[in-house]
Amino acid sequence: MSSARLDVQPSCDDDYDPNSLTCAEARLRIAAHVKPLLAAESVPVRDALGRVLASPVVSRIDVPGHLNSAMDGYAIVATDLPAEGVRELTVIGSSFAGKPFYGTLVPGQAVRIMTGAVVPEGADTILLQELVEARGDRIRIDGRHQPRQHLRAIGEDIARGQTILTAGQRITPAELGLIASLGITELKVLRKPRVAFFSTGDELRSLGEPLGIGEIYDSNRYTLFGMLTRLGVEIADLGVVADDPDALQAAFVSASADADVVITSGGVSVGEADYTKEILSRLGEVKFWKVAMKPGRPLAFGDLGHALFFGLPGNPVSVMVTFYQFVQPALLQLMGTSASEYPVLRAHTTTLLKKRPGRVEYQRARLARDENGAYVVSATGDQGSGILSSMSNANCFIVLDMETGRVEAGSLVDVQPFFGIV
Ligand code: AMP
Ligand code: MG
Repeated sequence: MSSARLDVQPSCDDDYDPNSLTCAEARLRIAAHVKPLLAAESVPVRDALGRVLASPVVSRIDVPGHLNSAMDGYAIVATDLPAEGVRELTVIGSSFAGKPFYGTLVPGQAVRIMTGAVVPEGADTILLQELVEARGDRIRIDGRHQPRQHLRAIGEDIARGQTILTAGQRITPAELGLIASLGITELKVLRKPRVAFFSTGDELRSLGEPLGIGEIYDSNRYTLFGMLTRLGVEIADLGVVADDPDALQAAFVSASADADVVITSGGVSVGEADYTKEILSRLGEVKFWKVAMKPGRPLAFGDLGHALFFGLPGNPVSVMVTFYQFVQPALLQLMGTSASEYPVLRAHTTTLLKKRPGRVEYQRARLARDENGAYVVSATGDQGSGILSSMSNANCFIVLDMETGRVEAGSLVDVQPFFGIV
């Protein structure tokens, strides 16, 4: 069902197309169709970066494993704290991080102690060194201290038996460190999806080949390589396939033979190369969609044998936009992680944004901060779907919804930043 607005009458002046899917509807249909991979494997900790946990991580140790000091100062017995006046204690040794004091402390004694060092047997209170008067092996203390202060308890960060990470979590650098802090050397992660891709088009040449008249270098296989590699999937680049029914059929068959996902670019425009549709309908169940978006209107999605299939448009910017808006969330879902929504922030546009109602637009833009520290955004010039430099110059998408028409400079717009901190 198209969710184009019924209250808006299509006219020559706008782009409302009752046969188009909305972006949201396309995303929902894809999400409803993708089943996460189940097979798991064990990998050494470092290899788990970017992977998704197949089972929870449970701590086998307490962190910290010993009662230790939160401050530099002196370890003492709380009963030595003077109710009034000043008391003198004898310093009998020191405890440094990694070099504990092995003796037992009794009332009247103190041990010099550093942050992170084990609190000696018998001690239960840390005195801040700034509040202590030290003379040789004697210290003088007054009433400014509290019993049992400045201690880090055993297991206060993580207790033995505690579940630290849950299945489905994607491993980032913080998790690598956390896992290492627990002494864990191997992790159970879900296997990587295998993604095969190829480009279609008689005009396409691969790098290293000379260009004839009207021919262009295939760039989509490079942007796809980059986006897929970053996601951490296994890739198979199957090259360029000519606009030829037999060659296409062979490519679809071999791509889907042992891939979980097949991605192609080009040849899905409405009315274009009907044999693509015909081949795909024979080999699988593929739907051709018009999505009410710009760039990236034509999109094919479905099953090709056992593989999921995404037929992306040919234009280089459309490939990137449809990948980020549809394929990446689907791949994350397949990888077993709950594909969280991209962050969206609001910023004032410094440039006028040309747009017609009837489709969602992902305009390429630069996000910056103005002299007051507020976010402002400006479009990166020509928004043609073949202008790949508009992606390279951009650091965000401005997302303009269906109903929006031309946007005046100074208006607030939704922005999806390309960057994330982790
Ligand atoms: P198509 O969807 O096949 O009609 O292609 C739309 C436009 O994108 C055409 O101008 C193609 O030449 C161009 N195009 C298609 N595939 C690629 C590719 N792999 N690399 C660069 N441009 C492409
Ligand atoms: Mg083509």
